[in-house]
Amino acid sequence: MARLVSSLPQVDETTPLAREVAADARRRLSLQGRPLPRPARTRVLTVANQKGGVGKTTTTVNLAAALAQAGARVLVLDADPQGNASTALGVEHHAEVAGLYDVLVDGVPLEDVLQECPDVPGLACVPATIDLAGAEIELVSMVARETRLRSAVAGYLARRASAGEAPPDYVFVDCPPSLGLLTLNAFVCAEEVLIPIQCEYYALEGVSQLLKNISMITQHLNPVLHVSSILLTMFDGRTRLAAQVADEVRTHFPREVLTTTVPRSVRVSEAPSYGQTVMTYDPGSSGALSYLAAAQELAERPVRPAEQDLTTSGSRR
Ligand code: ADP
Ligand code: MG
Repeated sequence: MARLVSSLPQVDETTPLAREVAADARRRLSLQGRPLPRPARTRVLTVANQKGGVGKTTTTVNLAAALAQAGARVLVLDADPQGNASTALGVEHHAEVAGLYDVLVDGVPLEDVLQECPDVPGLACVPATIDLAGAEIELVSMVARETRLRSAVAGYLARRASAGEAPPDYVFVDCPPSLGLLTLNAFVCAEEVLIPIQCEYYALEGVSQLLKNISMITQHLNPVLHVSSILLTMFDGRTRLAAQVADEVRTHFPREVLTTTVPRSVRVSEAPSYGQTVMTYDPGSSGALSYLAAAQELAERPVRPAEQDLTTSGSRR
């Protein structure tokens, strides 16, 4: 017996891996089976960062799935012509499928093009098809070109209300990595911006440009828009640089940055190739647990009331 015990691996929290495993276990115990509060009214969040590859899509689909698994009704609008969110949510988005293009350019109602996500009850997605890339140009000459998505969402909510159907709790818009008319539409239809930041050297440079753009939109097109949350993604706790960047972001945005960081994890990057989010692909993985913890923070933090002083944006306090 003594030999057996001594042959077991040491429970030693001094190595990074052991610490990570222990932290995961604690997080799992504290979150499992815990219902998340649902918002009093629909929260529309645009997930944006002008840099590509920082985790916008990954964050959108996994937060959306985590919230839906915790009982919320969630709608994802895929506004990136690459359609990565549609892929990860397992919804069809080949060229013949109707999607966000038809909503923006032809005024097709959202309810006619949304698809239920096959793996997660309560989660639906309006897919992006390849023709969405063309919408960027087609919209230029259209009336109300910046407000078409807002009208589509407002119409959808109004029709559900008059039919006595419950509204979605969350609408997430996954943005392309550029500031074109698609991103502009996403900013105009939302109240909250969620910025995923990858902890690397140039992380904050892109963010200051993004904040300038958001403040321009606040002044001219959508006074209620504000940065409500920042999520540090692909965090590698073993590098000093990641920790330094994380500290810097937390110093700049003490209120907005979520306590949870999402570690770099192979399971997270594998999930989309199975048409899944990591929340169903490997729910016990560190990536899934982190997104669950982030979803919980998002759901439990106070939402800024619409009538609050709109001249102070989330980032300038
Ligand atoms: P964006 O939408 O900002 O372009 P993505 O969400 O598509 O970024 O992420 C870029 C790449 O990084 C993708 O291949 C994705 O699978 C991978 N990735 C994102 N988050 C993680 C993570 N936490 N761990 C490992 N890989 C990740
Ligand atoms: Mg993306």
